[in-house]
Amino acid sequence: MDLLTRKSKDGNLINMALRLDTSLQYIKGVGPKLGALFLRHGIRTVSDMLEFYPRAYEDQRAARNIASLKLGDIVSFKAQVVSVQAIKMGRSQRKMYDVIVRDQSGQIRCKFFRVPYKGYFERFTPYKEVRVVGKVIEYRGKIEFHHPDIRDIDPGEENQDALIPLYTEIEGLGTAKIHRFIKTCFENIPDENWPPEKLPAAIVQKYGLVSRRKALELLHLPNPENANEYLVYKTKAHRRIIFEEFFWLELYLAAKKTGFTKEKGVALLAGGGKLEELLRGLPFALTGAQKKAFAQIRADLEKDSPMHRMVQGDVGSGKTMVCFMAAVLVFENNMQSALMAPTEILAEQHYNNAEKLLSPLGLRSGLLTGKTRATERNKLLASLAAGEIDLLIGTHALIEDEVKFRSLALVVVDEQHRFGVEQRGQLKSKGHSPHFLVMTATPIPRTLAMTVYGDLDVSIIDEMPPGRSPIQTRVIFESKKPAALAFMLEQIEKGRQAYIVYPLVEESEKIDLKDAVSEFQNLEKQFPKTRIGLLHGKMKPLEKEQVMAQFREGDLQILVSTTVIEVGVDVPNANIMIIEHAERFGLSQLHQLRGRVGRGEHKSFCIMILGYAVSEEAKERTQFLEKTNDGFKIAEFDLEMRGPGEFMGTRQSGLPGFKMANLVRDLSVLQEAREAAFEVLRKDSQLRFPDHQLLREELTRTHGPAALAGIA
Ligand code: ADP
Ligand code: MG
Repeated sequence: MDLLTRKSKDGNLINMALRLDTSLQYIKGVGPKLGALFLRHGIRTVSDMLEFYPRAYEDQRAARNIASLKLGDIVSFKAQVVSVQAIKMGRSQRKMYDVIVRDQSGQIRCKFFRVPYKGYFERFTPYKEVRVVGKVIEYRGKIEFHHPDIRDIDPGEENQDALIPLYTEIEGLGTAKIHRFIKTCFENIPDENWPPEKLPAAIVQKYGLVSRRKALELLHLPNPENANEYLVYKTKAHRRIIFEEFFWLELYLAAKKTGFTKEKGVALLAGGGKLEELLRGLPFALTGAQKKAFAQIRADLEKDSPMHRMVQGDVGSGKTMVCFMAAVLVFENNMQSALMAPTEILAEQHYNNAEKLLSPLGLRSGLLTGKTRATERNKLLASLAAGEIDLLIGTHALIEDEVKFRSLALVVVDEQHRFGVEQRGQLKSKGHSPHFLVMTATPIPRTLAMTVYGDLDVSIIDEMPPGRSPIQTRVIFESKKPAALAFMLEQIEKGRQAYIVYPLVEESEKIDLKDAVSEFQNLEKQFPKTRIGLLHGKMKPLEKEQVMAQFREGDLQILVSTTVIEVGVDVPNANIMIIEHAERFGLSQLHQLRGRVGRGEHKSFCIMILGYAVSEEAKERTQFLEKTNDGFKIAEFDLEMRGPGEFMGTRQSGLPGFKMANLVRDLSVLQEAREAAFEVLRKDSQLRFPDHQLLREELTRTHGPAALAGIA
């Protein structure tokens, strides 16, 4: 039992005085059973409970009837359930739910594209009285709700405050109960048990923030006067909490970045002519954007603190070339570079390019992947340690312990987002503070660049090599597929090559794989004279390599593939791509995929096919790609539509979990928090000021002692 509680005569626990770190089960009315339930959802202490923020607010003064609903309104009204229907979405296992509700004035549809929790819809039996809270949106000329709150009518409802916080239900534990526990918390924390502000007073003042305590109170015990601001997450309470969430992340990144500038690395000397030799040998001139990016890289390399830079550029913008130029500079300084790619195919392609472009300069490259044979590998590792390899290219096999360099001065990671953010440091540790470069083709929206990559400098290659015409894109439904195939065949008859891509979605990997394989067999039957190849992730590396080589050489005219070709494959003669089940991809992913075409002199096409029964909404979303080839615009739109987790790929998003902050909605607060965090370290680069001690503690608490390693 906690020191702060005692047992009453009837054996119940009574709160004496709570602290923020008091275990939740000691709150009046909670107890061990509910305590365990909260714990399962990550809510252990009073503090966790107070950080269980309302997901929305219900403005009861906005209550009205269905007939009076207008587009864009955030409303609350009583209604009666008419029906609940589960509708299958396409061929996938997923379902959407349609809950229809009515009142005397009319009826309206509430759509759910996911199930809030198990059993959620089972409560909605016909005729049941419910309260619906949500935002009115329009779809195909009709108004409806997407994911509104539908909840049971509370008995004492009519007497409630005009503005009610709504909490996400926890395993059936309703919002009213949760609110009651939170109120109990507030009532039992005495003033002296509120911890001091962690944010420095100067920042609180400069950014006009309310105190944390005040913010928490305002969020959970809202003031109806400001209802409109609550409904859009724009009260000063929201701003304070969001600011703080961003601030901790930005402070961590700022500390890392400040630490980098203090690291001692190797300053490379200006080159002695090999770079010019490389450029003279190229069949093309560098674009202005490539020159600019390289100039920035070169300036970094010539400093004795290591570079930490990200090169962002759309697929085909020529990032690899820029990386090679940096490797040449390192080579001229008698040191080594490493280039890590996310797939074997891509590593091999880089290696082939290096052999072609760099070996004439005397630069020796090596290739190390998971499939490199033991004898070959041993030889390679020995040469590497002896300094007889100047550029080692490979997959994450490069990270392994046995891989030792003589003098590693540059680490390049291609397509960073496929490696977890944590892996960034692993390769780096193989050298003595080597320079570090990330190349990414995912145009990362500004907000994400400021968070996940906030410790890196950025170079943007925003210009394509000349002579590339934009890819013409069409989104069609499955029924039009024969026409698409006919069009593809026309292109093939003109000597071009084609990709047909199938998505590989982890949850249904087997089915998708079967799709690709059976499509391949169908096509072979349908077009016996056309040379068709199949490429998928389950094939042996050697087989994959053979197929890729055949396609590259033009021996294959059509390549049917799962998304293994997503990154980096370069076959300029391929000018048409058909993407099946485009609805399953994110827009940025689709954009990256289609970047495989449009790499040569021929006009290029991308046809995106939507599966059966795909919603109009998915179609509209995908059609954004018909309108633009600008990766940044697409990324911003994609982020807005799908949210950051999905955007980055749910698996390893590398994104910090925010409880309230939203990267799309709260951009301006993010900018302020970033500015504030960097300002702190500019003034006090070791966080030694008395006013900054709590910052130190918080950084160590959240990110471990390593967070301070760079600046201590
Ligand atoms: P990215 O890695 O940015 O997707 P790559 O570096 O693979 O792009 O370049 C794509 C293709 O364009 C390669 O075949 C490369 O040789 C070629 N390329 C690179 N820079 C130029 C340039 N300045 N002019 C013409 N072609 C270029
Ligand atoms: Mg590339």
